[in-house]
Amino acid sequence: MLTHPIKQPIEYAMQLSAQYPWHQTLLMQLREMIATDRLPQALFFRSRSDYFDDTLLWQMAQLILCDERRLCGQCQHCHLNAAKTHPNVLHLAARDTANIDSVRQMGQRIWRSPTFDKPQIVLIDGVDCLSVAAQNALLKNVEEPPAKTVFILTAEQPARVLNTMMSRVQRFKHPSVDTHVILHWLQAQLTQLTQSAAPDSAEARVGDAKTEAEIGAVAALVDYSPRAAFALFSDPEKVSKIKQDKYRFAQFMQGRCDVDSLISDIPKADLGEYLVRYRRYIDATIMLLFQKSAEQTDKSGKNSLQYQHWHGLTARRLYRLRDVVETVTRLQSTNVNLMMQLKTYLMDWQHDRQ
Ligand SMILES: [Zn+2]
Repeated sequence: MLTHPIKQPIEYAMQLSAQYPWHQTLLMQLREMIATDRLPQALFFRSRSDYFDDTLLWQMAQLILCDERRLCGQCQHCHLNAAKTHPNVLHLAARDTANIDSVRQMGQRIWRSPTFDKPQIVLIDGVDCLSVAAQNALLKNVEEPPAKTVFILTAEQPARVLNTMMSRVQRFKHPSVDTHVILHWLQAQLTQLTQSAAPDSAEARVGDAKTEAEIGAVAALVDYSPRAAFALFSDPEKVSKIKQDKYRFAQFMQGRCDVDSLISDIPKADLGEYLVRYRRYIDATIMLLFQKSAEQTDKSGKNSLQYQHWHGLTARRLYRLRDVVETVTRLQSTNVNLMMQLKTYLMDWQHDRQ
């Protein structure tokens, strides 16, 4: 077993992420639009932290700019896109730098003539993280863009995007992907990694034949995100840490662990990652109540969600906890002391229990 994380498998996974087979459906739709000259001015899809990661955003830009009008990987534009340095692509990572100034700057930049005589593409990842004022500034550009400008927008929570914006975009829907498809794919990549690695090398050990169940147990910890799963395959210590943290959060929800012991050893830099996981645990627990309720509804014919609880927690309380996690998640783009905010909100939530 490996004791030290190694970097190579993660880099390997990053290269692979450009090839997720489940991105193909959306890319084919886009290709069809380009071929029939029906490319909309603004595209939107819901981004997620799992197996639909931001590589889709870049693939869409690449597809529009590629000389072959497919992801040929050979032309100049594909090369520039792969390096994320294509001058016709303006990228705004709204999730990290959500402010009105960056939107305004982008709004000025789109009026400069593009370097290549091809569409100019504005990629904005996380429109839902922008303030209403920033979204309004963006809306002006989306409504009256320069010729040949295409906006590709994403949001994790489309409900937080202005309706006026949503009415301007063509929305792409993810196909549903069976977990087995992802696990099979991960397994195939691991096998390939082992085969191409030198015997006894770290990569060979990471790729060591794993059963689908073993891969599944690790992947489930990170929402089946292939990138994150690859990172975990090479870091068994982190796997046990995540399991411990999960247990502690369950204890916290049940009122058996106070806020300080929950959050005291979260490294500041990892807080975002923790918040994503917390939200997933809460969602899973809410799902459990829905399932319990559905079972009883069958018998009694009445909707019984309000009577269901998990260790004394009702769905309503769980939704409130979910709100806390979401509020703090949104604050990530501001300058507030996040740990302090998280602590205060969680203490309030726990206090309300009495
Ligand atoms: Zn190309």
